[in-house]
Order: sequence, then structure tokens, then C-alpha cells
Amino acid sequence: MSAPDYAQLDRDDPLAHLRSQFELPTGRIYLDGNSLGALPLAVKSRLADVVAGQWGQDLIASWNRHHWIDLPITLGERIAPLVGAAPGQVLCTDSISVNLFKLLAVALQLRPGRRVILSQQDNFPTDLYMAEGLAGLLGNSRCESRAVPEARLLDSLDDSVAVLMLTQVNFRTGHLHDMQEITAAAQRAGALVLWDLAHSAGALPVELDACAVDMAVGCGYKYLNGGPGAPAFLYLAQRHQDQVQQPLSGWMGHQRAFDFDPRYEPASGIARFLSGTPGILGMAALDAALDVFAGLELAQLRRKSLTMTRLFMDAVTAEPALAELGCLTPRADARRGSQVSLCHPHGYAIAQALIERGIIVDFRAPDIIRFGFAPLYNSYIELGTAVTALVDIVAHRHYEAPRFQLRSRVT
Ligand SMILES: *Cc1c(COP(=O)(O)O)cnc(C)c1O
Repeated sequence: MSAPDYAQLDRDDPLAHLRSQFELPTGRIYLDGNSLGALPLAVKSRLADVVAGQWGQDLIASWNRHHWIDLPITLGERIAPLVGAAPGQVLCTDSISVNLFKLLAVALQLRPGRRVILSQQDNFPTDLYMAEGLAGLLGNSRCESRAVPEARLLDSLDDSVAVLMLTQVNFRTGHLHDMQEITAAAQRAGALVLWDLAHSAGALPVELDACAVDMAVGCGYKYLNGGPGAPAFLYLAQRHQDQVQQPLSGWMGHQRAFDFDPRYEPASGIARFLSGTPGILGMAALDAALDVFAGLELAQLRRKSLTMTRLFMDAVTAEPALAELGCLTPRADARRGSQVSLCHPHGYAIAQALIERGIIVDFRAPDIIRFGFAPLYNSYIELGTAVTALVDIVAHRHYEAPRFQLRSRVT
């Protein structure tokens, strides 16, 4: 099989112009947007303005004058169309971990006769840790965290399950769950469903309302490009909102925060999921980052993402020198997200060798190299260059050099 004409693919790419909206260091190929999105240029200027103009000049008046106080709601409304949510159901706040805690507690309230949080064994660890933390707090008679292998998920939906908590795209393998089918199956069994969209939002169209999803969380710093530690978001379907009281009932979620009433009264709607003061610099950065999505057709984004991941897998499979690498990512378009995960016993060292050559990927224990394709800014030429470098590193065993064996804290 001859290599595709990557330059021609770039010329034909209807999204190619978006790349110029990002700061991308020359001489480097960034294939880690699934972990930390690249810097949108709009963020640089917005932050400079918020710091110098708003905070610096207008000081505390900025909460009203520059609508700082509204940012969690207005950002939620800007994220909503990216995840298929009608207005009034998405809030931008806190981290995924903290939002999971709030929503899981609410799920138990909504299913008082049930105590199990069911999840998948290889879910992202924080999802499992937060469920265990809540179970520890509430005690075993009220909450149990249960994680089973993927193949046993649907069979495990017995009448003790209050909520099924799943990540739509697996962070290790890039496997994509069928949201519609699984949501329906869980709801038929009387459970609620909570989807973690960390590797979906901004990478592929998500249809929360159309799938009748109950709750969801998602990440601001991955495919939404909001910057390191950007605020996350949560979704709770309208039909559940006014019946629940979230446990982190801070003043920002009060109906009238500035009455300073000693009695807590939750705000109406999704705003009750606020806890403390929002981090305005992070919110402002995410707000500017979302400009890139304005007017964008998510189906088009998805087409490019699928083409890139398919071409990358094809190129790896076609190359005899790469036969010793396994591919963990599904070939079926409907079953994968926007990353390709390859495995190799020397995966860590191979990732380091790629990084030394300016091809930024990441590694996940024990042996996985992740290649994230961000359709907003990655080009087909970059994909081709990454394949060539990978072949050279593996065929000549360049990864065996001692300097590639040293581990840092963040991989
Ligand atoms: C990245 C990621 C998180 C991160 O959670 P934070 O609390 O926002 O740091 C959570 N879940 C999944 C599936 C992720 O991929």
C-alpha cells in the first residue's frame, strides 16, 4: 500500500484554516491535545485584558461590570451545544472530580431505594476514587462503589444500582461507548446514567438530550483547549434539577448569595451546583478558547478526526517494522474517539524518543503510547511525519538509549 498524499489531504481539509488560531511551537508536532489542548491565540489576548484591564483597573467592580459573576452560567450555555444540551442544563465549575462527587450524591437521592454506583474497572481512576470516597462518607448501607469489567456492565444492572457511571471514550484505549444504547439499557433497569465526557467534548458530537442522559461531566482543558486546570462542566437534565440538593452547598449556589442568609436555600435550576467563588482567570481563558468552535459543524470535526485516526492506524499496520506494536484502538469508526493507543513493552522509552524528536505524545502505564489527534489544529503532514519517526525509532531500536528510560512524575 502506498502512503497517502498527506500534503494533498491538508489542501483539501475544510478545517485547515483553524490551525492559525492556535499557538503551536515551530519544530514540534503536538499529538497530546487529548491531555492538554493547545493554546488558542484568543486566550493570550483575553487573559492580558482580564488581568490588566479588568482586575488591574476595575478591580472588584468587575464582578458586575465585566460579568465575572455570570461566567459559570454563560460558559455552561456556550458548552451546551457542543454536548447536545438545551439551555439551562450545563454549568461550568470546579473539576471533573468535584463535579462527580456532587452528581453521584444527587443520583443516590434520586434513587433512594438503591445504593450501588456501578462503573467500569478500567474507568479513569478519579471517577472510581470519587465514588469510593462518597461510599466511605455515606457508609456501606447507603452507598457502594462497584466496578466490573466492561463485558459485565449490562449484566450487572440489577435493582441495587442507583447510577451507572461511565466514561464515553476510554482514556487508555480510545474505545467509544454507544451512549444511546447503554443509557437506554441502564434506564430500563431503573438506574440513572452519568457520562464522563472528558475525551468527547470538543472532539466529537455528543447528544445528551437526544439520548435522554440523566447527568454528565466534562473537561475544560482537553479538547476544549481552556488551559491547564481549566474549569470543568456538569450537566443535569432539566427533569431532575429542582428535586435535588447537592452536598457541596456553598454560598455561590445560594438563591441570593449576597443576602448572606444563615439558612441555605438552593438557587433554582443548574446554578445550585455552584459551590465557591469561580476562578475568573481560568473561566476567562476557557471563554476565549470556545470562540474557536463558533460556527463550526461538529460533524465535520468528527469526519476529520476519524480520517486521521484511521490513516494513522492504517500506516502503522502497513509498516512491517511496526509489527511488534499492538493497537488497542477499535478499527470501527463508531467505536473510537480521537486518539490512537499503541502498546509495546518499551512503550515509555518509545514515547520519550518521539518527544525528543519534537513529536509530543504521552504514555500511560503499563505500556501504552497515546497519539491524540486534535482536528482543530493537527495536520495530515504532521501525522505522516509522526509515522516516519515512529518507524525509525522502532526499526533501529533508538528507544534503547539510556536517556529514554528515566521517568518523570507526570507522564
Ligand atoms: C482527564 C480526566 C479527568 C480529570 O478530572 P479532573 O478532576 O478535572 O482533573 C476525569 N475523568 C476522565 C475520564 C479524564 O480523562
